[in-house]
Amino acid sequence: MSYTYDDQNIFAKILRGEIPSTKVYESAHSLAFEDISQQAPVHTLVIPKGAYVCYDHFALEASDAEIVDFTRAIGEVCKIKGVQPSDGDGFRMISNAGQNGVQEVPHLHVHILGGRPLGRMLA
Ligand code: 5GP
Repeated sequence: MSYTYDDQNIFAKILRGEIPSTKVYESAHSLAFEDISQQAPVHTLVIPKGAYVCYDHFALEASDAEIVDFTRAIGEVCKIKGVQPSDGDGFRMISNAGQNGVQEVPHLHVHILGGRPLGRMLA
């Protein structure tokens, strides 16, 4: 299975600085910014800087350094946004992939949602 990355997707443009975003956190291999359509009081997107279409692409092909950085970035965003269960009221992370996952933007992103009770949701 090979992955085809469209470098004209909206998050690639955000990474290149071609369109603006509200930055929450940035590290060597990751960027976090506010979702343009907030679905909860906290709704932040975390993306790797590398050209990965979806989570499985990233998990299979990213370097260890990228994977560690991205994992850490998600933790840092939870801390910055105050949604850690230890300090705040918790959060949900979602990463949609492909057609069945209803992925709109074909660059891996994790949604961090919180700030209100989110209800039970597995599908
Ligand atoms: P998906 O459905 O692919 O998991 O989620 C894509 C997310 O990207 C949506 O929540 C949508 O609101 C967000 N989004 C789409 N276009 C833009 C944009 O130009 N800027 C930002 N910050 N978010 C966007």
